[in-house]
Amino acid sequence: MTGSWSRLARRQHGVSVIVEAILTGLDRVLSSSGVSPSAVLGIGVGVPGIVENGPGGLVHGQSYGWDSVPLERLLRSGTSLPLHIDNGANTMGQAELWFGAGRGAQHAVVCLIGSGVGASIIAGGSTHRGSTSSAGEWGHTTVMVGGRTCRCGARGCLEAYAGAEAILDRYGGPLPGTDQESALTALIDLAGTSARAAEVLDETALYLGVSIGNLINLFNPERIILGGWAGLLLGERLLPAIPIEALLSGTMFAATKSDRPAS
Ligand SMILES: [Zn+2]
Repeated sequence: MTGSWSRLARRQHGVSVIVEAILTGLDRVLSSSGVSPSAVLGIGVGVPGIVENGPGGLVHGQSYGWDSVPLERLLRSGTSLPLHIDNGANTMGQAELWFGAGRGAQHAVVCLIGSGVGASIIAGGSTHRGSTSSAGEWGHTTVMVGGRTCRCGARGCLEAYAGAEAILDRYGGPLPGTDQESALTALIDLAGTSARAAEVLDETALYLGVSIGNLINLFNPERIILGGWAGLLLGERLLPAIPIEALLSGTMFAATKSDRPAS
């Protein structure tokens, strides 16, 4: 097995930038591993937003300003290998099922908390997609009627409270760091001395706890897996406050470190 990281420049989410990064990364992995392209079973691509399973592999990613982007067709300009494009929460859920905290589970929900919020619902050992592959848009379930405006345009979505972008926005004050990850780390550190920082994180735990309770009531999972870069940063502080409803239902919690999705 081989691996390679390539971090995007801050706020560089243009379609051409992403397509070039994927194709360049693919070439780099193939050449550094020495694996023949004929031996590759396929290329998995996880993206934020809704992915239409059909000709062209259309991606609707509001958080990146992607509107009906034909990602599969664009990637075809640089590779003839089989492509499997899916929502990033679903690809993370699949990875957890194969290699991580979801191994052995038939019924699970994998929660992705990054800049935004998503989830992958595992039912009967495979991903539940819904009629148009948009199932699991947990981040856009309503936690506050008439609440904060979400990136999707609706009001009161979980993502407008519990995604890293929203957490930092709700805090509102200056924080050190050049990106969301370093700013959120600083906010968590600040919570020991700043009442406002502690209040924002406590509110975040409340919104996540209510929303996880809703997942449990809807899907009766064996386990809930919390991941995503912000989920991992927040987990140590928030987990003691979150699992109350989960413990009542007998659902097992797991935090994972096996992913580093970008969204
Ligand atoms: Zn929303």
